[in-house]
Amino acid sequence: MSQSSRLTIPPPLSLYIHIPWCVKKCPYCDFNSHEHKEIQNFNDMESMYVEALIKDLEYSLPKIWGRKIHSIFFGGGTPSLFSGKAIQKILSQIRALTPILYEAEITLEANPGTIDTDHFEDYKDAGITRVSLGIQSFNDAHLMSLGRIHSSLEAKKGIEIAMHHFNEVNLDLMYALPHQTLDEAIHDAKTATSFNTTHLSFYHLTIEPNTFFFKHPPQLPLDDESAEMQETIEAILNEHGAIYGKSKLTKYDRIRNHHS
Ligand code: SF4
Repeated sequence: MSQSSRLTIPPPLSLYIHIPWCVKKCPYCDFNSHEHKEIQNFNDMESMYVEALIKDLEYSLPKIWGRKIHSIFFGGGTPSLFSGKAIQKILSQIRALTPILYEAEITLEANPGTIDTDHFEDYKDAGITRVSLGIQSFNDAHLMSLGRIHSSLEAKKGIEIAMHHFNEVNLDLMYALPHQTLDEAIHDAKTATSFNTTHLSFYHLTIEPNTFFFKHPPQLPLDDESAEMQETIEAILNEHGAIYGKSKLTKYDRIRNHHS
C-alpha cells in the first residue's frame, strides 16, 4: 500500500437495513416484500431475523473497517411491523460494532396502517431520529386502488403522531395513479405541503414486471396528463419550498420517475 493511500480518510458509510414483510402486498410493488401472515409465528421470525442481521453485520465488518457511519435507513417492506425492542437490539449492536457518528440520521419507514403512539415512542427510545411515512395519496378511492391498508384519515393521524414524536418527518406520495385527475393530484400535493414536514417525496407510479398491475394493467392517465401533473406538483412544491424554505430548512426531493 502506498503512503498516500494509507493516509486517505475512508469515506463515510450509510447502512440500509431491509425488513422484507408487509401486511399486504400492494399491486404495484416489485420490492422484496412478503405478506407477514404467511409467517406462522411472526415474533419468532422477528427474533431470528434480528440475529441474522447482526451476524450479517459482523461478517461485513472487515470490509468497512475504519469507516464512520453517518446514516442508517430501515426500509422495506414495512419496518414499522417490527417492535421497538427489535429495532433497539439492532441499533445497540450497530453501536457496539461500528464507529457510528453521534449525530447520525437514523430513519425508519412506517406505514400509516401499522403505527400508533406507543410504536413511535418505542422507536424514538430505540434511537430512531427520522420517520418516513408511506402516504401515497390522501384520496380514499386511490388508496384502495393501490391496495393500501390505510385510509386518508389514518394517513393524516399518522402524520400528526409522527410529527409529535420526531422533528424529521418525510412523506412519500405518488401521482399518475389509476383514474387520477389533475385536480386530485393537486389536492394531494397541497394536502401534503399543509403539514410542513421537513421532507416530501413524490414519485410517478410506474408499472414494473412481476407485479399484479403488470399482469392486470389499470387505466392510467395519458402521458400528457401525467406530464401536466408532474409540472403542476413541482410548481406547488417549489412555491411551498420558497415560502417555508428560508425559515424552516424545508427541502424537497425532485420528482422522480419511481414508485414507492
Ligand atoms: S409498496 Fe410498500 S407497503 Fe406495499 S407491498 Fe411494497 S413495500 Fe409493502
